[in-house]
Amino acid sequence: MLESFPEVLPILKFSILSSGSGGNSIYIEAGQKRILIDAGLSEKKLSARMTQIDRSFSGMDAVFATHEHSDHIRGIGPLLRKHEIPLYATEGTWRRANHTIGKISDFNTIREDEPVHFDELSVEPYSTPHDADESVAFVIRYQGKSLGIATDLGRVTPEVKNKLKNLDALLVEANHDISMLEAGPYPWMTKKRIKSGVGHLSNESCGELLASVTHSNLKRVVLMHMSETNNHPELAKITARQALGETSPEMTLAQQNHPTELFSI
Ligand SMILES: [Zn+2]
Ligand SMILES: [Zn+2]
Repeated sequence: MLESFPEVLPILKFSILSSGSGGNSIYIEAGQKRILIDAGLSEKKLSARMTQIDRSFSGMDAVFATHEHSDHIRGIGPLLRKHEIPLYATEGTWRRANHTIGKISDFNTIREDEPVHFDELSVEPYSTPHDADESVAFVIRYQGKSLGIATDLGRVTPEVKNKLKNLDALLVEANHDISMLEAGPYPWMTKKRIKSGVGHLSNESCGELLASVTHSNLKRVVLMHMSETNNHPELAKITARQALGETSPEMTLAQQNHPTELFSI
């Protein structure tokens, strides 16, 4: 007699716990593996957000840091020490961030274009143009499912476009609307920094990136790291929708004050 086994479909799950200049963090799970990218809120706040998506930090496999800015690393030290989680970061990030992070027991150096594997979950760092030491973003893969992240970058380089091609889901920065930034209250130097090639992606640049990498199987787009002062959710969404053209993936805006649902791809 033939026995039938239920087919187990590979599922990659993720939630953006927090996004914006007040703190950034992304939770990802696949199979038995669970990782966090950045911890820019306090350990207490991050734990509360994990509870909101019905998860916890106990037994987590890794925390990755994209770069040394405090909205990405503020909570990392206490989080790693409390839950005994290994840290993965570039040498440049560690050099700039180790004073803030403090003493930790398990540090692992990552390098651009060298994926780190946790069973079948792979985390590939790629370099980003940002005013930080050796900053990176990540492409995550699990059994044919894929997720690309592009936040904290000042411009869309050919490498970024190349890395984000043919993925199932994209988490892309839509930081500011250029005219709102120019007319807004920020000091001139801050405006100059944000607009520069090593600052943050505008809605327009986000659109340029989406237009160049979109494809008929793109399932989900999350707009990330949005400025509360220099952007408007509707403007960001309209620009992204127009850039995506005929393709119509699900679209969500990541929030500063609460986690997104736990998405599955
Ligand atoms: Zn940031
Ligand atoms: Zn940054």
